[in-house]
Amino acid sequence: MEHAGKHALVTGGGTGIGKGIAIALAQAGAEVTITGRRADKLDEVAAENPRLHPLVMDVDDEASVRDGIAAAAKARGPVQICIANAGIAEGKPFAQTTLADWRRTMTTNLDGVFLTMQAALETLGADDAGRMIVISSIAGVRGLKNAIPYTASKHGVIGLIHGLSEEYMKRPITFNALCPGYVDTAIVRNQLPGLMKRFGVDEAGAIAAIAQGNRSGVLLDVDETTSALMWLCSDGARSINGQTIEISGGQV
Ligand code: NDP
Repeated sequence: MEHAGKHALVTGGGTGIGKGIAIALAQAGAEVTITGRRADKLDEVAAENPRLHPLVMDVDDEASVRDGIAAAAKARGPVQICIANAGIAEGKPFAQTTLADWRRTMTTNLDGVFLTMQAALETLGADDAGRMIVISSIAGVRGLKNAIPYTASKHGVIGLIHGLSEEYMKRPITFNALCPGYVDTAIVRNQLPGLMKRFGVDEAGAIAAIAQGNRSGVLLDVDETTSALMWLCSDGARSINGQTIEISGGQV
């Protein structure tokens, strides 16, 4: 119960990586606000633990984020643990990528993190401790072909936490990024039909094509990201600040 009484917020907490993180934080005693656009997904997760609190919030919409986080803080206190996890991934060759594609990804993956972090920080008093963590990607530290807006957005959030770790250096708040390789969640599974068509392979072949980037050759488990995140939120990690941690088995 390391986090008993703390308020944590997890964007995209209704599915995949965010769901795993939210449940682990609730099991560790935190009151966890889970956000996303689909109320049904949030309600399903909230049913797993009474310390999980669903909140419909669209990170593409400034008012939704500001009002949502302010309401969550009013109900459960300052956001001491903020996990900016909500994101989208779309694959397309660069030459076919439109400005609308670019902006859609930037709006969710980069603007959404900016708004979430700023609104969460506003809830903290001058002496309050905080852990601000963004789920970037291995694409935040390396190039990912056929996903240039995604790659740029995930690099962008790392710049954001680097800057914030400097700006808030004198306060007891840390800013870090986790960079997973391919994890077995909807964001990956949704790409399988397109890959099966493009490469003329079955589902197993499409998964193998994606997972070959991981050293293990298989998709990572959600709990691998959860474990790293729980360590970053622990008291022992209070001096880990401005770091990007790759969870990829050494993917190059
Ligand atoms: P999911 O698709 O399961 O999760 C994405 C989550 O983001 C969903 O819960 C979704 O909820 C939420 N979301 C998307 N757009 C918005 C929006 N506009 N407003 C609010 N919430 C939104 O996939 P993952 O769990 O894998 O992805 C979580 C994060 O991890 C993403 O940032 C992703 O880029 C990153 N990541 C994933 C990897 C992987 O291989 N799976 C690897 C590296 C990083 P809803 O649709 O209900 O709004």
